[in-house]
Amino acid sequence: MTAAPGVQPEEDGRVQCLECRQWFRALPAHLNRREGLTADEYRERHGLAATHPLVSSDLSERWRQQTTARLHAGDVVPIAERMPPEGRAAAGRAGTARHVETSSRPEVRDRHRAAVAKGRSMAHANKRAALDALATTRGYTDWGDLIRSTLHLSVNRLGQNVGRDPRTIAYWRNAIVGPGWKDRGGRLHPKRQAAYDRLDQLFTDRGWGDLEAAVTEAGSLNKLARLLGTGAATLRAWQLHRGGPRSGSAETPS
Ligand SMILES: [Zn+2]
Repeated sequence: MTAAPGVQPEEDGRVQCLECRQWFRALPAHLNRREGLTADEYRERHGLAATHPLVSSDLSERWRQQTTARLHAGDVVPIAERMPPEGRAAAGRAGTARHVETSSRPEVRDRHRAAVAKGRSMAHANKRAALDALATTRGYTDWGDLIRSTLHLSVNRLGQNVGRDPRTIAYWRNAIVGPGWKDRGGRLHPKRQAAYDRLDQLFTDRGWGDLEAAVTEAGSLNKLARLLGTGAATLRAWQLHRGGPRSGSAETPS
């Protein structure tokens, strides 16, 4: 017997596949695996309404009851209720994160978190591979080699040279060389380096141990700056640059 178009036969808690005439409690998985059809394609082929259920009414009723019970138990919360309006924009920007937040079972959440982490680390590896390729076109072994060999350049200059944002350059210098790359003087513009060298020399010539001593002698930071033909801001920046491991230089007279 053949079902009339627009009718999905159902008997004893099962629905019949109109392709192979076998009976199932739910059709979508079977259609996908055995018939190579999506639910929509199947409905269209057999003249079923777009919303026609492809699951036995027993099963569909059981699912409905289970969901209702879980809702009452507070086990799941409908996304529409869970998401305050102001949160929707943010959630839209991070669809995966929202999925993690609203999935109810811990193992599902963990799987999603692992997938997100794996995606991030793959994206990171892909970026690094692209940078390695870029470095080899410039004659370096790899990106690490390029980064270590170009510390004399400012992040802006190197960024221009390789077509990357200066922040990207700073990120990789920190990652590959460590924060110590800043102490190598490479980040200084040549003019700034020359100004600092001049201040180093002036302080040595006048026997000033540090900025504090010089300010005391000159009366104020501004007076000292005028005296040295520079700006107060430059003096402060020079002091900062001089600070750290190289403070208390050997030139300090005792
Ligand atoms: Zn079938």
